[in-house]
Formats: sequence, C-alpha cells, structure tokens
Amino acid sequence: MNPAGKPGKTGSLMPVEVALARLLEMAEAAPIREREHLPLAQVQGRVLAEDLISTLDLPPWPNSAMDGYALRLADWNGEPLVVSQKIFAGQAPQPLQPGTCARIFTGAPVPAGADCVEMQENAEVQADERVLFTETMTPGQNIRPQGQETTVGELVLSAGTRLGPIEQGLAASLGCAELAVVRKVRVAVLSTGDELIEPGQALGPGQIYNSNRVLLCSWLQRLGCEVIDAGILVDDLAVTRARLGELTHVDLILSTGGVSVGEADFLGIALREEGELALWKLAIKPGKPLTFGHFRGVPVIGLPGNPASTLVTFALLARPYLLRRQGVQEVEPLKFPVPAGFVWPKAGNRREYLRGRIESGRATIYRNQSSGVLRSAAWAEGLVEVLEDRTLIEGEYVNFIPLSEVLG
Ligand code: AMP
Ligand code: MG
Repeated sequence: MNPAGKPGKTGSLMPVEVALARLLEMAEAAPIREREHLPLAQVQGRVLAEDLISTLDLPPWPNSAMDGYALRLADWNGEPLVVSQKIFAGQAPQPLQPGTCARIFTGAPVPAGADCVEMQENAEVQADERVLFTETMTPGQNIRPQGQETTVGELVLSAGTRLGPIEQGLAASLGCAELAVVRKVRVAVLSTGDELIEPGQALGPGQIYNSNRVLLCSWLQRLGCEVIDAGILVDDLAVTRARLGELTHVDLILSTGGVSVGEADFLGIALREEGELALWKLAIKPGKPLTFGHFRGVPVIGLPGNPASTLVTFALLARPYLLRRQGVQEVEPLKFPVPAGFVWPKAGNRREYLRGRIESGRATIYRNQSSGVLRSAAWAEGLVEVLEDRTLIEGEYVNFIPLSEVLG
C-alpha cells in the first residue's frame, strides 16, 4: 500500500517505515542500561540517563531586564523621585525606601517593595539628581519574575534527551556540574568486499578504495558511539565467521556490502548458521537490501555497499536504531516540505532519497543519482524524499531532510 492507502506497485518490498518500526522494536528490546557520570563539559553528543529536575527557581529572584530605575508605582505621582540606592548585577539590594527609586542594572535583583522597572531612556535626571519619569508605566514592567524559566521540582530535561551545547548550557544554569549519561554504544564497523583496499595503497586491477569505513567510523563518532574499526572483510565464509566471532563484546556489528547477491553474501550465511537473519528488500532508493540479524547474540545490521546507499540507509535506519538503543525517543530527522525545482516523470516503486539542495526556495537534485556516487551527497545539503508511485511536476511539494539533521 502506498501512503495514500491505495495499492501500489511496491509488491513485496518492505516500506521504509515498516523497516524502521521493526528496527526500533529490536532496539527497545536491547537497551543500553549502564550509565556513567561525566563532567558537564564532556557530555556533548551523549544521552541523558535520568530526568533532570530543577533544584532551583530560575531566576532565583526577580531581576531587572533593563538598565534603569526600580520603583513602587504607587509612589509615583508625577513628581521626580530621589534615588536611594544603586544595584548592580551580583549585589543584594536593601528593601526599597518608600517614596524613592533605585538605580538598577540588567540582571540585578529587584529590591523588595519595588514593582516596576523603568528603562533609563524614559527617565530624566534633574539638576537635584532626582529622577523624573516621562512615560506611562505598568506594574511588573521590565521585571523578570522569580522562576519564570523554571521552578524547583520541575522536569527540565527528560531521560533520553541528546545532549548538546544548549542542554549543557541549561544544565549549567541549574548548577549541575555533572550529568548521568548512558554509556556509549559500542559499534564495530566492518567493510566487506574482495575489491576493497585502504587509501594510501596503490590501486590494483579491479580494486577500489574503501570509502564506507571512514564514512561510518567518523559518523558514528559524531553520534557519540564508541567505534571499533574492524577493517575490511574479504568475501569468504570462514574468515567472516572468524571475524564476527571476535566481535562478541560490542553492542552492534555494522557492516557494509555483501548483502545484494546471495552468492557473495557470507555475512548472511554466517548469521543463519550461528544466529538469525532477516533479509529485507526495502522500498528505498538508493538502498534496497538490508540485513538485520544476530551473531551469537550480538545484533548485526548489514547495509548495502554502494556508498550513497550506505549513507541513506545509515541515516534513515541505522542511526535511529542506535539512538533508540540509548533510550532516545526522538530519533527521526526533521523533514519539511519544499517545492520541487525538478520534474520526476516516471513513478518508481521505491521511495527515493535524492541528494539535493534548496536553491531559490526550491529543491534541486544532483545530476547523477547513482547509488555509487558519493559526490552527490558531498554536493548536497539534504535528502529530497520522493514517495513511491509518485510523479512530480515543478512546484509540487517534496520533503527535504537536511543532512545536518542526520549527521550529528
Ligand atoms: P555489494 O553489496 O558488496 O555487492 O557492493 C555493492 C557495490 O558497492 C559494489 O560496487 C561494491 O564495490 C561497492 N562497495 C562495497 N563496499 C564498499 C566500500 N566499503 N567502499 C566503497 N564501495 C563499496
Ligand atoms: Mg561486495
């Protein structure tokens, strides 16, 4: 069925959302429970392990939003007021003397008895240093009330929140010097293929450089994972079995390649022999073949080997899985509709994720969308989603997923 609910041409292909739902279910069945306490400066990219409850009111006391004068409105009868004290940020003021005003600066506590701050631009200092207010004032103006951001006992960040600069800043504002975070997910990265060699070596006949290894290793690091670089795996069953057997201490084995044709699918054979295997044909392009299984109890995700397929399936399926293992609820990237700046005359039976950009408010796509062409993604700012069984004329809406949404 396509999203409109009509039978489509998808046939036996598994819709992306079904595959994602299954992966997330598996992730929930194997949550990472261990946690560690880290200094606030080191929690970037990690996942909060317990709810952060405020132990203070923020701000702790009413304070001034302006440089100006604090007064009690009832004391103001149109006559200039004497300045009875000066309050800078960081000082503790005296209660306001009745019938006077206080010079006050941004962030300074508003003295007890004052109910309004007038900005200095609306105040005239007289020759006798008394202050005349020139505009109408209202109670509470320019005062940031106690607890306006948060109050004692309030839930500020829930367990499962991914921590970045903003959450770190927020935790700091509440006085947290350290946070409990979920321990890093340990991910072993395997690149399969007899044709692969590493950059730095001379290219022989039939060989290509391994691009997926560094792509995935550095991406996983950005996601806060502990990466075990398990290198290249030649297309051989005994070697595959042996290498998988060395990786029993990890939370996930993430491999690329070797999932498209049965004959060279040694990963699949090994999983079938010593674990279990689900081979999915996904309604996704680039992509399509995806392996999920276990080897001696260790979860394994096998992504397709073409680099653009690796990228798309990692972004849309493996990344959410890894985040959910750590208890993250919001695992799907933000997408938003933009008008297409291209035509799509031929409907496909797979959901396409075209590497594209937004130019003059319209989604444009890289000229070569072959799954082997990683350059398309380097050029792109995002993935342009074209649904199954869809044709497009220019100006019709497509979803755009910024790459920045999935890279971190
Ligand atoms: P496979 O799924 O093994 O049949 O691989 C599909 C295509 O992706 C083939 O053209 C492979 O050469 C290519 N490929 C597989 N793994 C990698 C890799 N790690 N780096 C670059 N290309 C790869
Ligand atoms: Mg291969």
